[in-house]
Formats: sequence, structure tokens, C-alpha cells
Amino acid sequence: MFRSRTAPLAKQFAGAQRQVLSKRGYASPAAGGGGNTPLVLGLAGLAGLGGYVYLQRNPSTQAAISANKNEALGRAEDAADSLKGKAQAGAAALSANANEAIGRTKDKAQEAKDDVKGPFDEERKAMGNPGAAPVEALIKNSWVDFKLEKVEPYNHNTKIYTFSFPDSESIAGGKAASALLTKASDPQALLDDKGKPVIRPYTPISHSDEKGNLRLLVKEYPTGKMSKHIANLKPGETLAFKGPIQKYEYKPNEFAHGVTIGGGSGITPMYQMISHSLSLPEDKTKWTLIFANVTEKDILLREEWDRLAKQHPDRFKAVYTLDNPPFMLWKGEKGFVTKEMISKYLPSDHNEKANTKFFVCGPPGQYAAVCGPKDGMKQGEIKGALGELGYTNDNVFKF
Ligand SMILES: Cc1cc2nc3c(=O)[nH]c(=O)nc-3n(C[C@H](O)[C@H](O)[C@H](O)COP(=O)(O)OP(=O)(O)OC[C@H]3O[C@@H](n4cnc5c(N)ncnc54)[C@H](O)[C@@H]3O)c2cc1C
Repeated sequence: MFRSRTAPLAKQFAGAQRQVLSKRGYASPAAGGGGNTPLVLGLAGLAGLGGYVYLQRNPSTQAAISANKNEALGRAEDAADSLKGKAQAGAAALSANANEAIGRTKDKAQEAKDDVKGPFDEERKAMGNPGAAPVEALIKNSWVDFKLEKVEPYNHNTKIYTFSFPDSESIAGGKAASALLTKASDPQALLDDKGKPVIRPYTPISHSDEKGNLRLLVKEYPTGKMSKHIANLKPGETLAFKGPIQKYEYKPNEFAHGVTIGGGSGITPMYQMISHSLSLPEDKTKWTLIFANVTEKDILLREEWDRLAKQHPDRFKAVYTLDNPPFMLWKGEKGFVTKEMISKYLPSDHNEKANTKFFVCGPPGQYAAVCGPKDGMKQGEIKGALGELGYTNDNVFKF
């Protein structure tokens, strides 16, 4: 910043100096003479002397010289004034830039401070302890064991697991939308086909500032490695956690409409993000959830979705689609999520439609059909229904 501003300024100074130097041409060395140099110099000397005497004695010429002198002095003064003006303008610009930079740095520092304070600041104030930030039980770069406290059935294949932190005053931490990584506490207990520990992400359904524990809603897959491992844990046993890892950093009013497309258990990141957004009074973002399941009893967190839709009818709509809908009285959609189904729930307002962001989290088959698979840790190209509708990586996020 400073470099690019001062470079033209230095050029101005250099240019002005060159101008002054070019006016001082008389000081340049004479070109070298030839063999009759002494004679030429002698004659020139005489002519010069004659001219000098003539000029000294002629008043009109003296007046002209004096006028020229004054004019030259005036020009020199003008040039000096101009340089001074430019230097002052340059200094003012630099000072303005410096002030701007200081202002920006202060803003950043405040942002960082706010970040550190996190979303729990108001609650801490209410508890009469505004200075103390709660300790986070999770560690970003290393594994820590949490004890399984209790297991509650949720439906036929899903349970809620409460894991307690070693310090009952600490919290999970993290911002919407994030996930925690899990692996078996005993590194040899759960290995993949290559002999490496199985690691899977889960997004807690408990609030990130809840003290003492976190809750996972885990669906058990018949051939699933981690979901089975968790299902087999007994209270008192532990699971290793790491994180939180920020999957998508949600910012209020970043887009006009968010469309979340989920399937099965991959719904918890959507829940974290949507419930967080709806809890912010300043956030005007509207949301549509398109949630695909096999049967009605597979719809995870349905009571929560329905409650949010009732509380925020102008901001949130939940659409359920089922492979096997009930024979009668089913008001939702049927079958897989298709291009036509997505189009049906897009906002009719053109600007809102253009300012829509899609989030997808579901089983591998759903990724392929809706947005194309992820490319390892990378987002991968947008294909499937959203690709056909013309959406790109700018409009789509794959969890
Ligand atoms: C950001 C994020 C958050 C998640 N949060 C949760 C959560 O809160 N609760 C939860 O239960 N799961 C969640 N998941 C899914 C979870 O990470 C695992 O993929 C899931 O538990 C299956 O892992 P597994 O080791 O048991 O199965 P695997 O051994 O990986 O797979 C076994 C079989 O299950 C199928 N399968 C794998 N994943 C899914 C899926 N999501 N849906 C349908 N079939 C699948 C595979 O095709 C395979 O046939 C989340 C995923 C992501 C990306």
C-alpha cells in the first residue's frame, strides 16, 4: 500500500529535480576541443571580455539581464513552491493512508476480540462473570476422550448419546456450521481396510455453549463402522474427539435464501446452521429444508423442524420427501430429490432466486444425484440436479 503510493511521489520528486537540473545546462562540461584549441579559446576569451564590457556599460542590457534574473528567480521560486505543495499533498496522502490503515487494524483487532468473546458473551454477562471466557473441552489439533454418560433411544435405528467433559464447567465451543471428528479411544479397536483408524465427522445437536457435555444423534448403519462402534459403547466407556472443524462459516444475511438438501443422518449440520440463523434477530435469511428419507419414522429432528417452521413461518419451510410415504394423508413429497422438486421450492422472486445458496449433506447416492460427489476433501464439480439447473460452486456447498 505505502509502497505503491510513495513510488509515484518519488518519481514526481525525481522529475522535478531533473527539470531544475536541465535548466542548469550551463554547468555541463564543454565538449572536448581539437588541435587549434588554444587559438579558439584565446579568440573566444577576447570576444567574451568584449561582450562583458559592452554589457556592463549598456543600461538597457543590464535592465534586460536584471529582468531575466528576476524572471529566473521567480520561476525557481514557483518550482520550489510547486515541489513544496506536492510534498505537502504527498505527506497528507501518506498520513491519510496511515490513519486509514490504523483504523482498519483497530477494526480487525475489535473483530478478533469479538471472535474470542464468541456468541456466549451475553450469557456470561447475565451470569455476572463478563470477563471469563468459558474453557473449551475440545482441542482443535489433538484427540481428547469424553466419557459416554447416557444413551437415549430416538427411533428404531437412531439414539442420542451424551458424552461428558472432564471439566463440568467447560463447553464444546465452535460456530455454525461445524463438526467434530471421532475415532475409537483405543487406536487399534476400529481400523479401516488399510489398517488406519476409522475417523468420522458428527455435528452435535446440543448447543455449542452447553456446559459439561455434548449430545450426538447417531443413526446406526447395519454395515457402518463408526455408527456401530458408537452403538456398542457402554456408559462409562469413552470415544475420542477432535475439533471443532469449521465446515461452512455461516454469516447472517450473506445470501437471501438458503436451500438445505439432506438425507438420513447428514441433517445435523443443517440443523445447527438453520437454528442458529433463526435465533439471530438481525438475520433476515430465509431457509427451505428439503429432507429425504425412506419412511416417516426416519425423519430425524422432525419435531424440531416443525417447531422452527411454526415459530418462523416467514423465514423457514420444511419439505419432507419419502421413498415410502404413508398410504394416506401424506402432504409431503415422494421419492428422491430431483431437479423438478428443487425448482418447485425455489423463491419466485427473481433477485432472491439469484441470491440463493444450496447446502447438501446426505448419503453418497444423494450427493451424486443432487450435486455430484465431493472430490476427497475438496468440493468437486457441481453436477446432478443442481448442475443441470445451472448452479456452480459459487452457489453450492457440500458438507
Ligand atoms: C459434517 C457431517 C456431519 C455429520 N453428522 C452426523 C450426525 O450428527 N449423526 C449421524 O448419524 N451421522 C452424521 N454424519 C454422517 C457420519 O459422519 C457417518 O458418515 C455415518 O455415521 C456413517 O458412518 P459409518 O462409519 O457408520 O458407516 P461407513 O462404514 O462409512 O459406511 C457403511 C455404509 O453406510 C453407508 N453410509 C455412509 N454414510 C451414510 C449416510 N450419511 N447416509 C446413508 N448411508 C451412509 C455407506 O454407503 C455404506 O454402505 C455426518 C456427516 C458429515 C459430513
